[in-house]
This record gives sequence, structure tokens and C-alpha cells, in this order.
Amino acid sequence: MIRRDRTRTAGAPRPGRPALRRHLTELGFGVLALAAIVPLARGALLPAESRAQTPRARTVVTDAMLRPAYPANPCRAGRVALTFDDGPDVYTPQILTVLRAYKARATFYMMGKKVAARPDLVRAVIADGHAVENHSWDHPHMADLEPAAIRRQLADTSAAIAAAGAPRPTLFRPPFGNTGPAVNAEARALGMRVVRWSVDTNDWRGRAPADITATVLGKAAPGAVVLMHDGVAASASTIRALPGIIDGLRARGFCTSSYAE
Ligand SMILES: [Zn+2]
Repeated sequence: MIRRDRTRTAGAPRPGRPALRRHLTELGFGVLALAAIVPLARGALLPAESRAQTPRARTVVTDAMLRPAYPANPCRAGRVALTFDDGPDVYTPQILTVLRAYKARATFYMMGKKVAARPDLVRAVIADGHAVENHSWDHPHMADLEPAAIRRQLADTSAAIAAAGAPRPTLFRPPFGNTGPAVNAEARALGMRVVRWSVDTNDWRGRAPADITATVLGKAAPGAVVLMHDGVAASASTIRALPGIIDGLRARGFCTSSYAE
């Protein structure tokens, strides 16, 4: 209203110009307002991290996927740890839905910058009884970093996880499995052990769910640690593979758990 009044009283050199200028001014403000509102609305609907990595999660979980053949852990053959890296991200809630239906526990190795963006997902993971551990701030090759940078990657991530409401991590899984004496020493100084995995599903490469399941069942052994991902675009395939992985492990007598030991 104020803008319109100002336009009307601004004066005009020739008759007819004020009305034209008023319309142009209103049009201009309209376009500006639209330009400001559209990105805001889009930002409100999508979490910050999902714009950077996976634009939006497809709904992958179906009712048929939530009917376990073995709802309890047999444990005759030993433990197999289920682990998920690079989250929390847009597919994490669907991973939680499957694990909940199967009463299976897992460990989530999280990136600090994603934890800072979605602390609500950290709390959801913890609330379901899973473990949250450290997977660096932004996924660098840790062994290439200076000691101060290594310390920042580790300390900032553990601090973000604790600030989100999870227990302070006691394990660090280096991105790419890339570690060295300096990384190990910095992790130890922060109260963390450096761990890797024993079964690499390569799920992040976009493999078919049946292939991911076959890899896990083919390499399952007492104390095995299965590496999967909840924080990549290909995590949709991981979700589809998960029911077959858990049922298959239990059919072979294994417990599924957060940690192998
Ligand atoms: Zn990773």
C-alpha cells in the first residue's frame, strides 16, 4: 500500500505515465516477491543435505518388505554386524523402518556435516536402539591431512554427534578405509578405536539388490562386519536388499547386531 501511494504521488512529467509506472512497479515487486518466496518454500520442504547429495528420497519400502521370516536372532553361528556409512541422509528413515520391522540393530557411521544438518535423524537412529559412530566431518582421505586437520575432522564430528544427543563415539571408521599412524594416534587421543569392515557390499556403486544380498550371504562368517551405505543415492538398492540380508543371515544361524564382538 505504501509503495503504491508513493508511486501515485511521485509526480509525472506527462499525463498517463503514473498509471503505467504504477503497473510496472507492481509487476516488478511481484516478480521480486516470487523470486524470494519460491526458493524459501523449496528449502523448507527439503533438508539442506538432501539438496547437496540425493535431491529427494524415493519411497522404497513396501509392506511386503516388512514381513520377516525370522523375527528373532538365532545366534547359533555367531554375530554379524550391520553397518551403514555416510549418513544421516534422506534414505536413513527407510533403513530404520526395515530394521525396526526385523528387530535388527545396526551401527551408523555418520559424517559430521550431515549430523549438523540433520540432528533429528541422529536422534531417530538412537531412539531405535542403534549405535552412532564417527565417519569424519566431510569424508576426506584422512591419511593425506595434517595432524591438526585430522583432529578437527574427528573432534568436530564427535562433538556434533554428542550435541545431537547420541553417546560420544568410541569408534572411527575412516572414509575409504584410508588411515595411517597419525590418524590412528589422533583417534586414540579422542578415545576412539579405528575400525574398518570385513564384507564390502559395494552398494554405493548402484548394484542390484539381489547382488548386494548375495555378497553378504556369500561372505558371512562369525564376527563379520558388513559395510553398507545409508547416505548415498544408491541407498535405495541397499534398502531393497536389507530384508533378504537379515533373513538370509538368520537362516544361516547368525545374529544381526550393531557390533560384531
Ligand atoms: Zn564413507
